[in-house]
Amino acid sequence: MSSQLIDKFNRKITYMRMSVTDRCDFRCIYCMDEKMTFLPRKQLLNLEELEWVGRAFVELGVTKIRITGGEPLVRKNILHLFQRLGKLEGLKELVLTTNGSQLFKMADSLKEAGIKRINISLDSLKPERFQKMTRIGKLDVVLRGIDAAILAGFERIKINAVILKNRNHEEVIDLVKFSIERGIDITFIEEMPLGLINEHDRAEAFYSSLQIRQDLKKSFTLLESTDITAGPSRYYSVQNTDTRVGFISPHTHNFCNTCNRVRVTTEGQLLLCLGKENSVDLQSIIRDHPGDIMPLKAAIIKAMDIKPEGHNFELVGQPQVLRYMNRTGG
Ligand code: SAM
Ligand code: SF4
Repeated sequence: MSSQLIDKFNRKITYMRMSVTDRCDFRCIYCMDEKMTFLPRKQLLNLEELEWVGRAFVELGVTKIRITGGEPLVRKNILHLFQRLGKLEGLKELVLTTNGSQLFKMADSLKEAGIKRINISLDSLKPERFQKMTRIGKLDVVLRGIDAAILAGFERIKINAVILKNRNHEEVIDLVKFSIERGIDITFIEEMPLGLINEHDRAEAFYSSLQIRQDLKKSFTLLESTDITAGPSRYYSVQNTDTRVGFISPHTHNFCNTCNRVRVTTEGQLLLCLGKENSVDLQSIIRDHPGDIMPLKAAIIKAMDIKPEGHNFELVGQPQVLRYMNRTGG
C-alpha cells in the first residue's frame, strides 16, 4: 500500500483538517443560522475513532493536522485526543483553530498536550459588535483567552478575522494594531458561501482582501512575504514588527492548484474540497472493521481519485454547498 497521498492532478496531500464537533458556544452570523440543529451524538465519531482517523492519515504521509469544528474546545475530554495525536510518529504539526472562549482555562493544557500553533477567531474589538457578530460571544472572555495563550508560549498565535462590509470593515487597522502590540499574526478572511444563512446578504456584505489591503496601506507598510504555505493564505509582514498579515481570498485568488489538504467532518465524512460536495464516508468503514486500520487507509487512498481540480464560489443566488462551515471544519 502506498504511503503517500497523491491525487489525479499530482498534488500531494500532507495536511488534514479534522472537525471534532459541529457544536459551538457561539453562533457567528457568517457561519451558522440563528436556529441551528446539531447532529445526534451517536452520529459523531467518538474520540478513539477520531484518533484512528488521525493515525491512518499520518501513516499515509500527512504531517500536519488541524483540529477545528464547531468549537473544538467544547467537546468533552478533547484534551485526550490532542494528547494521543500529539504522540503520533511522523506528525510534525498539531494545530488548533478555536473561537478562544475556553482558552483562559485551557491554554496551558493545550500546550502540554502538544499543540504547537493556534488560530483564534476575533472579528471585532468592540464588545457590542463582537456580541452581534457571534450572537452570544463575550469579547472580554476571548481577550483573556488570547492573553492566556500568549503566556502559555505557543510557537505562533494567529488571529482569524472574517471581514464583512458595514459590519466590521473599518476595524481592520485596529485589529492589525492589536496583533502588533501582542507580537502575533493576523489573517483576514473573505466570507464564503457555505450553508444557508438569513442574517445578511452575502453578496452585499462582501469586502475583498484587496480593499482590506488598501485600507491597511494607509497605516502600515506591508512587505510581500516569501513564505509559501501551499494553502490559501497570502502573507505580508508589517514593516518593523514581528507581525504577519495574511489574506484568505477565495473569491479573488484561486488557490486550488497548490491544494495540499483534505477535511474530515465530525461524523467521519472525508471531504475532498471545501467548495464541492465530493466525499467518502469513513465512519462506516471504521465501524465495519474495528481494530483494522488497513480498510480505512485503502479508502483514503482511493478517495484521492475524486479530489476535484478546484472550485469557484458564487455569492449571488443559492449556495452550491449547503453544508455549514461548522460541519465542514473551517
Ligand atoms: N469555532 C472555531 C473558530 O471560530 O475559530 C473553529 C471553527 S470555525 C468554522 C473556523 C474558521 O472559519 C473561523 O475563523 C471562522 O471565522 C471561519 N468561518 C466560519 N464560517 C465562515 C464563512 N462562511 N466564510 C469564511 N470563514 C468562515
Ligand atoms: Fe462557532 Fe467558529 Fe462557527 Fe463562530 S465560526 S459559530 S465560533 S464554529
